[in-house]
Amino acid sequence: MVTDQQQPSISEVLIVDDDPAMLRLLSMWLQRAGYAVRIATDGQMAISEIEKKCPDFVITDWEMPGMDGIQLCHTIRDMNLMQYVYIIFITVRATQAESVEALETGADDFLAKPVRQNELLARMHAGSRVVELERSLSLLARTDSLTGLMTQRTFFETLDREWERAKRHDRSLSCVILDLDFFKRINDTYGHPAGDSVLKTVAKLLFESCRSTDAVCRYGGEEFCVLLPDTTEQSAATWARRVCEELRDLRIPTPKRDLRVTASFGVAELTEGIPIAEQLVDRADQALLCAKQSGRDRVVCFGELEAETVVDLDDSDQSAKLCEGILARHVMTPIVACLREDETIGQAAEFFLRSRINSTPVVSAEGELVGMLSEMDLMAAMVSLDCWNRPVSEVQKPNVIWYEEDTPIKTIYEFLCRVSIRRVVIAKNNTPTGTISRATLLRWFRNLVISKGHWEMDDEVKQTAEGDPHRSKQRLAMTSRALGELALDLAGQLESGGDDMVPFVVGGASRMQELVYDLLAYSRYANEGNVSGECSAML
Ligand code: GH3
Ligand code: MG
Ligand code: MG
Ligand code: MG
Repeated sequence: MVTDQQQPSISEVLIVDDDPAMLRLLSMWLQRAGYAVRIATDGQMAISEIEKKCPDFVITDWEMPGMDGIQLCHTIRDMNLMQYVYIIFITVRATQAESVEALETGADDFLAKPVRQNELLARMHAGSRVVELERSLSLLARTDSLTGLMTQRTFFETLDREWERAKRHDRSLSCVILDLDFFKRINDTYGHPAGDSVLKTVAKLLFESCRSTDAVCRYGGEEFCVLLPDTTEQSAATWARRVCEELRDLRIPTPKRDLRVTASFGVAELTEGIPIAEQLVDRADQALLCAKQSGRDRVVCFGELEAETVVDLDDSDQSAKLCEGILARHVMTPIVACLREDETIGQAAEFFLRSRINSTPVVSAEGELVGMLSEMDLMAAMVSLDCWNRPVSEVQKPNVIWYEEDTPIKTIYEFLCRVSIRRVVIAKNNTPTGTISRATLLRWFRNLVISKGHWEMDDEVKQTAEGDPHRSKQRLAMTSRALGELALDLAGQLESGGDDMVPFVVGGASRMQELVYDLLAYSRYANEGNVSGECSAML
């Protein structure tokens, strides 16, 4: 079923020679024998012919001006082509050492000039058997046995090639990842064979909805990934929406009943800011995550997640003015410690419990952001008792929405308003430095408007402040004292504790941070009520 893996007849030949008479003669023999022949007069031309379309055979002269046969052979073997190319050398050089040199560069066969027609055709025939065998083996390795689609590995090879092509010729390239919704229920309710039958039907629908130049793969269990060359994000999204609808309308017959299934889609396009091919898939995956979290059975584009214009905050809006010049790093809750992906689930659970957090970024040994781990991920892992010694990398979520420290807070605000994700990670040089959750933003904005005098706190607090300045002062004092106690408590733990003090620092600092926010929020009333110079000075 795979687009670029259908078994063609082994018949395409590229002849490379700087001698026109030789080219004519070989072409004639081979065409008469039923081969489709292309010619190139030097190595460079041969490479561009191969890039246009990969032949089954290359028959090349050894001595040519510019790139000679040996260099050409090296280049072809380095080209990471979709299929094996059988290379035959034709030359007057016929010593044993020379034959060995040619074969060692990756040539498959060797013919001495003058060439005889019968011998050439016999060698081609023998070569065809090798190529055919190689094709069927590689077809097996490249094809998912259940669906007949490309495997993930083949997909990434295709991605590399398309990536190069798109960059070189400035063409667009998009990627769509889809994941079936609540697929586990189908297995649980109707059995695994019914699930398999759904997967096969979905694969067929996908394959039939694609152009021959698109690459469709089974990316994981019930996940599929499609690469669409020469396609913008917008067109890819249109395609994805159509498939999403077709899927919704599908009735899949199984022994018990006809089944229905939906899928969530993430779409991303290659843009300037993507330095490596895998990141295109990564972005589609992030969009897929949003599609899942915002309700499933839908298409989400990565571009939409980033678009600043879609949201309501107009530059003339008062709130936008308040945010002017404020960057992510000014607002984020700093991260004191992260988990490393090679730490165990047991250590992670311990870390969560001791520091009283419910999610954390996960970093590689080099400190780079690689995922996110939440209480929920840990809970899900705990169904098996042997999970405790397994590494965090097995359960973390690789999809992290993250922004640079210098991102305007308005962008993050707009993002968190729009999507169902609750928290983003802030990073500097790929290393996480903080998080901003909806709660962080809400609290920050509340404090901002209070301190700027745009909003007054709720009546109860205000009455306390205005009506009873003394109580307000007491409240500030109590909060400050609690803060002091927490600090002392932390200091005590640090002095007496063991090696790993990080969880205590994280937990202690987070609780102190909450109290500092409270102090800030009350401060305005302390001033207005003219409570006391001491309090303001303290703050
Ligand atoms: P969500 O909407 O969040 O994606 O929910 P889900 O149930 O689809 O996702 P989850 O990852 O919980 O479950 C995926 C299921 O896919 C679990 C696994 O047993 C099933 N699965 C994976 N590969 C195959 C397969 O080859 N055949 C069958 N029948 N099921 C498979
Ligand atoms: Mg020559
Ligand atoms: Mg899945
Ligand atoms: Mg699923």
